[in-house]
Amino acid sequence: MIELKSAAEIEEMAASGAIIHGLFAEIERRVEPGVSTLALDAFAEEFIRSHEGAVPLFKGQYGFPGSLCTSINAEVVHGIPSDARVLAEGDIISVDVGVRRRGWCGDSARTFAVGEVSDQAGDLMTVTKRALAAAIKATVAGKHVGDVGAAVEAAVHGSGFHIIRDLVGHGIGRELHEDPQVPNRGTAGEGPLLKAGMVLAIEPMVAVGTWRIRTLEDGWTMATADGSLSAHFEHTVAVTDHGPRVLTGPRERIAPALEMGS
Ligand code: MG
Ligand code: MG
Repeated sequence: MIELKSAAEIEEMAASGAIIHGLFAEIERRVEPGVSTLALDAFAEEFIRSHEGAVPLFKGQYGFPGSLCTSINAEVVHGIPSDARVLAEGDIISVDVGVRRRGWCGDSARTFAVGEVSDQAGDLMTVTKRALAAAIKATVAGKHVGDVGAAVEAAVHGSGFHIIRDLVGHGIGRELHEDPQVPNRGTAGEGPLLKAGMVLAIEPMVAVGTWRIRTLEDGWTMATADGSLSAHFEHTVAVTDHGPRVLTGPRERIAPALEMGS
């Protein structure tokens, strides 16, 4: 069942989202060669808990040990922070984070370049970021969930890159994962009708060489089957009567004026 959120509830979710937006600004400054993913995770947990009533949403969710998912290079999602994973020049790292504050959740992800990265890695990040922006623009009352996926597909089409098919976005609210599922592929006009009050976590994942993924031996990390690079950008987005509202971005930023930061 797709639960609609009131205007007041969406404001609560925006407050959770603002913490995430602020956290990413800090993480961006800390992503550099020599930093471990566990150090980023420790910083993130402290940052989140420094906001009254806010807790890291992922920690303990389904048994996940971290506050962040930190996925490097071929890792797509759900990488576990570790002091043995140290960032190196030329890596890309996808950081995914959730916050719950006063009962309301936010979920967002960004892929960062560690120092100078290859042109291919840069292109992959650009294409994935653009796919998210296109998907957000399609998150409009009266359209359908299929329009969102179709927008991702159109944005990635022609790049030569591949949309990860087996992982999807989701509704979000009091829980991290609510109905509906939001696939990164679709047909305009199909799927559940988008209505004001729906809040969706939209999260294209795009890889260089394949759409296929595999689970690594830790039982959590999902990586590309061919070892090629993968990028991930995600925002929590409310459907409103005035268009899509990004709850995990700068406050009051509404597509199509969307920019997603560097
Ligand atoms: Mg996420
Ligand atoms: Mg998500």
